[in-house]
Amino acid sequence: MAQYIGALDQGTTSTRFIIFNKNGAIVASHQLEHEQILPQAGWVEHHPVEIWQRTQAVIRGALDKAQLNGRDLATIGITNQRETTIVWDKHTGQPYYNAIVWQDTRTDKIVQRLAQDEGVDRFRSKVGLPLSTYFSGTKLVWLLENVAGLRDAAERGDALFGTIDTWVIWNLTGGQAHVTDVTNASRTLLMDLKTLQWDDTILDEMKIPREMLPTIRPSSDLYGHATLEAIQGVPITGILGDQQAALYGQTCFAVGEAKNTYGTGCFMLLNTGTDIIQSKNGLLTTVGYQIGNRPAVYALEGSIAVTGSLVQWLRDNLGIIQNASEIEALAQSVKDNGGIYFVPAFSGLFAPYWRSDARGAIVGMTRFINKGHLARAALEATAFQTREVLEAMRTDSGVDLKTLKVDGGMVYNQLLMQFQADILGVPVVRPKVAETTSLGAAYAAGLAVGFWSGEDELRDNWGVDRRWHPEMDETTRETQYRHWKRAVERTFNWIE
Ligand code: ADP
Repeated sequence: MAQYIGALDQGTTSTRFIIFNKNGAIVASHQLEHEQILPQAGWVEHHPVEIWQRTQAVIRGALDKAQLNGRDLATIGITNQRETTIVWDKHTGQPYYNAIVWQDTRTDKIVQRLAQDEGVDRFRSKVGLPLSTYFSGTKLVWLLENVAGLRDAAERGDALFGTIDTWVIWNLTGGQAHVTDVTNASRTLLMDLKTLQWDDTILDEMKIPREMLPTIRPSSDLYGHATLEAIQGVPITGILGDQQAALYGQTCFAVGEAKNTYGTGCFMLLNTGTDIIQSKNGLLTTVGYQIGNRPAVYALEGSIAVTGSLVQWLRDNLGIIQNASEIEALAQSVKDNGGIYFVPAFSGLFAPYWRSDARGAIVGMTRFINKGHLARAALEATAFQTREVLEAMRTDSGVDLKTLKVDGGMVYNQLLMQFQADILGVPVVRPKVAETTSLGAAYAAGLAVGFWSGEDELRDNWGVDRRWHPEMDETTRETQYRHWKRAVERTFNWIE
């Protein structure tokens, strides 16, 4: 049998192909960025064809670096930026429009219209999500209403809808497979969490033709074989949305295990087993994963829109750092936040508030404040937002977390990780293989072809790289958190 597995991670800013061996160690990887198209305030798009070109290039690139060829890969798994929405012509493969990215807020009027008098939670009991600009369904409604000829094409069965996983696999299989997995489908607003099928009532309400939707499949399953020359004939057997992939890659297989990924935004997922737990505290209910024909495992998710992107903002808009990692030294230059709190509600607030009327604020400013305090407050914002999500999870699930497994670009910031453990009062643990997203996709794919024997073997691959223990005293912790909550309240009701 082939000795390696390939994982394609199609992310918001870049596309990566990583080749793993049986121990879950990285053998080679290749990564390429793609253009962020910002046509107007609040709009974010990608070129679908560029994403497909990058996909092909990174696959070839990683194989070249490892001096391997397609025959060395037992299988391929896909993980992807979630919710980003594409429609294309099934005969020509041409997109009707750019991909509308998860961060895009152009559908706010559509959300209001769909919410009617019943409010944004009108489909929540079925789909686990509030109506929001964030999810694919509202983006698809916008496309059907705004792209000339698309609705007719969709009704004729000529137009296909897909999230990024669907688009990439459709292309990788030469148009053979029009599929998605339960995790990506659970981010559309269109899938019933119980039946794991598209819901006809919601499709009717949103006027979405069923013909254009992909088939929903488990996260670990045979979807098709690659026709791309470099990997001709290699099976494709894993799909997980990026955050669910990280949950799986962190081997959070037991009820009550959770991970938090610190990237552009922060996404904490808690495994709730085969129970669908409806959140009363602003979390999302989503599918964690489904391995073959086993029952789906669900998760509670806290999505935070702005964390690492606040560090980018300090770099790009203020210019007080040259690259993201410099923020640590700048924050270290002061002994504390100087009494300021920075709530980065740049496009409203996601979990646990879901307030689109909020806008960012720095509160507690005095003449004393310098850029070091700003840097520190920006980092602390990530930790405070994470605590809000963790508290919501505790209340919704009754689970008291013993440790928090972390990953993503920000977890190399020691000051942030120590502060996170301090503010949570819970140890924070970083694993040896921090590429948990790609690893999760590789695991799902590998299980489908017997590359790994089962979840026990995957657990054995997981090892601790670093652990941070809470050191802050209880009074300081609670006082700071209380100040943070007051600062958050100051951001509400800004947009009239
Ligand atoms: P994504 O997958 O969302 O693109 P990554 O996991 O690659 O994100 O993380 C990149 C994010 O982490 C960027 O927003 C960047 O500003 C932030 N980041 C990277 N290094 C650091 C650091 N040392 N300290 C704080 N933030 C960082």
